[in-house]
Amino acid sequence: MPDCFEKFEQNVPGPYYVTKACIGCSLCSEIAPDNFRASADPESAADNNYVCKQPSTEAEELLCREAMESCPADAIRNDGEK
Ligand code: SF4
Repeated sequence: MPDCFEKFEQNVPGPYYVTKACIGCSLCSEIAPDNFRASADPESAADNNYVCKQPSTEAEELLCREAMESCPADAIRNDGEK
């Protein structure tokens, strides 16, 4: 069983990250396509998404927050790190 609070390695450093609770529904990359992306890693156990870019504008921040609040698996976290 994957640790559901464990981050995927692919997440770029910063406050937002996707954990192994992700079910790969791709809702986050539809809401915030500049910040979330589906994994292209063939080694990845799950068909997960990850944070490919931390938000750098207020608009991106709003979309990332919306993605986090919309995630059906509660897999997107923000630990407030810069
Ligand atoms: S919305 Fe949540 S469960 Fe769906 S792909 Fe994104 S992180 Fe994974």
